[in-house]
This record gives sequence, C-alpha cells and structure tokens, in this order.
Amino acid sequence: MNDWKERIKERFKANCRFDFPAKDITTYRIGGPVDALVYPENREDMKWLVKFVSAGKMPFFVLGSGSNVLVGDKGIRGVVALTGKMDQLEVSGSAVKAMSGAKWDKLVQVSAENGLTGLEKTSGIPGSVGGSVVMNAGAFGQETFDRLVSFEALDEKGNLLVLKKTDVKYSYRKVEGIRGLIIISAAFEFEKGDKSAVLAARKEALKKRMETQPLDSASAGSVFKRPQGDYASRLIDACGLKGLTIGGAQVSAKHAGFIINLGNASASDIYKLIRKVKTEVKIKTGVELELEQILVGDF
Ligand SMILES: Cc1cc2nc3c(=O)[nH]c(=O)nc-3n(C[C@H](O)[C@H](O)[C@H](O)COP(=O)(O)OP(=O)(O)OC[C@H]3O[C@@H](n4cnc5c(N)ncnc54)[C@H](O)[C@@H]3O)c2cc1C
Repeated sequence: MNDWKERIKERFKANCRFDFPAKDITTYRIGGPVDALVYPENREDMKWLVKFVSAGKMPFFVLGSGSNVLVGDKGIRGVVALTGKMDQLEVSGSAVKAMSGAKWDKLVQVSAENGLTGLEKTSGIPGSVGGSVVMNAGAFGQETFDRLVSFEALDEKGNLLVLKKTDVKYSYRKVEGIRGLIIISAAFEFEKGDKSAVLAARKEALKKRMETQPLDSASAGSVFKRPQGDYASRLIDACGLKGLTIGGAQVSAKHAGFIINLGNASASDIYKLIRKVKTEVKIKTGVELELEQILVGDF
C-alpha cells in the first residue's frame, strides 16, 4: 500500500476504503474505482483530511449522496470524502441546523413535523444537505436558498469559514463563488405554519414524484437544467427521444428529463446518450441544453 494510503488508514481506521467502486456510492450505480474513500465523522476529521490532501497536492473530491454525479468508468484518482457520517440535525424554534451529510429529505421531514413551512415541496430530493446547498437544489417552486441563512465551510487549506447567504450569488441550480469550499453545516430559518397543512403539502410532493419520476430505476435525477421559459423534459419528448437507448442507458419513458441505467450501463453509455440528446434537441429546437449533473473523472 502507498505511504499516503497507510497514513489515511492509520487516521481513519474502519472509516476508509481503497479502490472502492464508485458505483456503490452513486445513485446512477455507475463509476469505476475511487483510490481512497474516507468517511469523516466530524469537522476535525474533515479538517485533517483537507490539510492532508492540500499538503500532498492530491486530487480531492467531496460526495454527499452521489445523487447528482456521473462518475467515469476509470473512477476517481486521489481522495474522496463521503459526508454521510456527518449527519446531525437539530431544531430550535423555527431554526434548523444540519451537518452537511444529513439527508436533505430528513431535514424537510423534521421541519414539516415541527410545523415549519418553506421547503416542504422539496420533499423526496435524494441528496444530502451539503450537496443541496452546492446545487441550490429545489422542486415545485421551492429551493434550498429560500430558507438558507448561513453555512460553515472549509477552504482548501482547512480554515473554517462562516458564510451568510448574502455572501454568495445564487440562482436556479447555481451557486457562485464557493468552488473548492467544503460545506460542513448549514443553518435554515423557516416560518411557523399549520402542521397538518405542511405535512399534507409534503405528502403531495412525494406523491407527484412517485407518479412522474422513474424512481424504480437508477438515475441521478434531471440530466439538464430547465432552459429559460421551458422544460428540458418537454423539449426532449417533443424531439421524440423518449426511450432512446445507447448500451445500458435509456432516456426514461416516464420522464424524458431523466436518463436511467437499465442495469448494466457504463458511464460512457450515459455520456454518449447525454451528447446525443443535446445534439438532437439543438438541431430540432435550437435550444442549447445545459447539463445539471456533474461529471467526475475522465470523459
Ligand atoms: C430520483 C432523483 C430525483 C431528484 N430530484 C431532484 C429535484 O427535484 N431537484 C433537485 O434540485 N435535484 C434533484 N435530484 C438531484 C440531486 O438529488 C440533488 O442535486 C442533490 O441536492 C444532490 O445532493 P448530493 O448530496 O447527492 O450531491 P452529490 O451528488 O454527492 O454531489 C453533487 C455536487 O455537490 C458537491 N458536494 C456534495 N456535498 C458537498 C459538501 N459537503 N461540500 C462541498 N461540495 C459538496 C459534490 O462535490 C458535487 O459537485 C434528484 C436526483 C435523483 C436521483
């Protein structure tokens, strides 16, 4: 084992894996080996890791639930930190504070159960809090930054920063100026609502998801961002691309905005299909679709 892997093993013991298949940590169920996968349990673990990779000038990537990434068939070089063990969440009045690895839907569920309104329509987004902050994830007219107040993050040298929502520029599925930062925790402020109405809205959002999304297949949600004044899924459907298949990758027949892994898709199959859809939509409608999913590794 390389010296650097030995040092990680020594520090993280059971909380690390080597040459671990990315397909086991992504919702696409795709991706080659990760050189070193580490599960930090707290700020100190993450800080140590950031300083370690920074000192060694090693490639470093953070993953939450892996629900918005396509990892290449050759995998990821260097170190990947998976935040899932940093998952504490606390409610205090109308405020909710969550560590970055907490499940987004847990945050929404707990706030709804406390009669807190503002994010219930985002129920069912299968990401982490950190991933949802980075992506400004949202659904049915509500998004992460609606209720975000501030977040803690580490910079590339391992310094802890506290950023207010107003310190960054955000828009639809886009947050600028946070590249290279590792989100540690996020604080949210809700409005007090009627508990049964909030829970009913949550139920409705989950039902809509079940009805419209191919939740029984592996995917990473919407492939493309919503173009101005339209929907990627509508354009893809109008171009007759529903069901289009390359290798094990298929444009979902249920929701044309999703590409699903039929079971044996490679990252290269998905990527080829993404390019094909993009090209066809551009030729037939003139619209340039922008990728929402994040490509990690070689493509
Ligand atoms: C079935 C399905 C439905 C979906 N529906 C929606 C939807 O309705 N709306 C929506 O917006 N999205 C949706 N998504 C996409 C996805 O769930 C969201 O984008 C989610 O917020 C991503 O979170 P994650 O933890 O999985 O991020 P990951 O996929 O793990 O990572 C995404 C990006 O965030 C970065 N990141 C993750 N955690 C951190 C951290 N702690 N610090 C710094 N960077 C970090 C990663 O480096 C990467 O660049 C869906 C996905 C699926 C599979």
